[in-house]
Amino acid sequence: MSLSLRTKFILVFVFLGLFMAAATSAVFYLSFDNLIRAKMKSDLANESQEFADYVRYEKGRTIIEPSKEWQELEHLKNSDYSRYILVTDTAFTTLHKSENLGRFEFQSFHKFLPTEAVESYDIDMDSVKYFCVVFPIRKNERIIGYVLAAENYRRTAYFLEVFERTIFISLVVLILISFTVAVFFANRVTRPLLAIQQVAGRIDLQSPGRRIELKDSEKEIENLSDSLNRLFDRLEKSFSQINEFSSNVSHELRTPLTVLRGNIEVSLTKDRTSEEYIEILSGLLEETLHVIRIVDDLLLLARADAKELRIQTEPIHIEDFCLEFSKDWEMICAMRKQTLRCEHEPGIVIEADKNLLYQLFLNIISNASKFTAGTEPIDVSIKKQLAENGKTYYAEIVVTDRGIGISGEDSEHVFDRFYRVQKDRSRETGGTGLGLSICKMIAELHHGTISLKSKEGFGTSVTVRIPATNNLEIR
Ligand code: ADP
Repeated sequence: MSLSLRTKFILVFVFLGLFMAAATSAVFYLSFDNLIRAKMKSDLANESQEFADYVRYEKGRTIIEPSKEWQELEHLKNSDYSRYILVTDTAFTTLHKSENLGRFEFQSFHKFLPTEAVESYDIDMDSVKYFCVVFPIRKNERIIGYVLAAENYRRTAYFLEVFERTIFISLVVLILISFTVAVFFANRVTRPLLAIQQVAGRIDLQSPGRRIELKDSEKEIENLSDSLNRLFDRLEKSFSQINEFSSNVSHELRTPLTVLRGNIEVSLTKDRTSEEYIEILSGLLEETLHVIRIVDDLLLLARADAKELRIQTEPIHIEDFCLEFSKDWEMICAMRKQTLRCEHEPGIVIEADKNLLYQLFLNIISNASKFTAGTEPIDVSIKKQLAENGKTYYAEIVVTDRGIGISGEDSEHVFDRFYRVQKDRSRETGGTGLGLSICKMIAELHHGTISLKSKEGFGTSVTVRIPATNNLEIR
């Protein structure tokens, strides 16, 4: 069974209060008991000291001379608390015994006999508890007998009973007070938590803008609600991104599928020649390939988002890499009668996944080519640069074109998924709006960065920085 924080708080508070009160009461009780015993001891010893005054030692034996005053002292035995007096010589022969002592004998208490001062102890007589003091009678530095005085415990019991009752009542009052205080504080602590819980429970897709607003709360609670509000902000942003993304995906897939459907329907309206069918099917294939590209790109991004994309890195020598693939990039540019000028410093090595690196170059170079209307050349430059820490290097890949460029506002969004500056033009060029998002993902997977600088009508340069391996430092 799990208890609520409020219940736990109250229980702990009450138990703690009870424990402290019980411990304090126990200390008081013991001190009180000791105090009463000390008082009884001194009272009994003082009162019975007068009996010792009538004891003499004459002719080798101890004798006692009862007197009139002594008779008066006997009233003690009839008092509320029933006192008992016994006077003996050193051989424990009884010299005087108060009448109420009956068959009581002193011998059984030898073990308590003191030689110097007054001793006190408890005894049981006929199942009744008594408090006793015993002390020696001295004459001329010599012990001539003993006095034993006892008192039943009624007086002490009465005091202790009163004390116990007081303690019990105090404990009940304390429990009530600590319970009230605990409830007050528990409410104070849990009220803002309940408010937080209620707000958090009401936040859903219909009302994602709700936030926790607490007034006059403790610092910790304020910090907690601030953190939660920030979390809600992030979640709201993520929700809207997901919403936007899903509607983008549906839209992006719907367009080519509608084209496909339309073309198929038109082609089925009448009989056609085989040449016409070939032409129609080629169009359909193109649209199908476009859909496949979108789906492939989305899958790649989704796997990267889910951290499921395993990259297989290996040391890549930029020189060799360019030698192997620059022909492909040149061909892309050549299709638009553009030339590709590739420059790289020697000896640059990066740790990268070859396929992903190839795709990164391909996306950026084909964008540069696509968005250059004329035959201006495309420049690729790869340099090694010292990192800001002054210790390590990175490879800086810059692809520059002299094409249509992008406005400042648009260039802030080009790495967003499905963002295209000119949708129609991009569609004409077969763009999906996912190319630069994929480039960003690839750069980040390699612990690198990507950025874009552009001026509308003048051209664009995309810069990718990927950490170089250590052997670059040695060079
Ligand atoms: P796409 O597949 O449409 O090219 P990208 O994500 O690669 O998608 O690019 C996003 C948008 O950024 C493009 O639609 C285009 O408008 C713009 N863009 C990217 N590269 C360039 C460039 N070199 N010159 C001009 N515009 C560019």
